[in-house]
Amino acid sequence: MKKECIDCGGELNIPDDAVVGEIVSCPDCGGDFEISSTSNGSMDLKRAESVGEDWGE
Ligand SMILES: [Zn+2]
Repeated sequence: MKKECIDCGGELNIPDDAVVGEIVSCPDCGGDFEISSTSNGSMDLKRAESVGEDWGE
């Protein structure tokens, strides 16, 4: 399944077995997006919070 990147409009490849909460990266802009579900059962993308950053905890 292919989705349009919500940042740059590039093509994102979503695996058929992708699950909600999975992170996909855009090959064009490098952004990370989290798969979320919509009320009608289809998949949508939302910007993922950047992870792996050290907040000095
Ligand atoms: Zn992009």
